[in-house]
Amino acid sequence: MAEPKEGGRAGGGTKLNPGDAAAPGTPGTGEAICPDCEGKGRVANRPCPNCDGTGKVVAGLAGG
Ligand SMILES: [Zn+2]
Repeated sequence: MAEPKEGGRAGGGTKLNPGDAAAPGTPGTGEAICPDCEGKGRVANRPCPNCDGTGKVVAGLAGG
């Protein structure tokens, strides 16, 4: 009855960006605007390395 869950190391699909504090969907974390590119996804006409060009990062949430 075990559902296939991501989190294993066997060819998962979740890739963390440098700006991510945790994998998407991790309890206690949420999507936030990338502080480096301010959500634009680009810095100096290049894809933002912090969020991999997504403009968003996964950040830890303070409290509930
Ligand atoms: Zn960014």
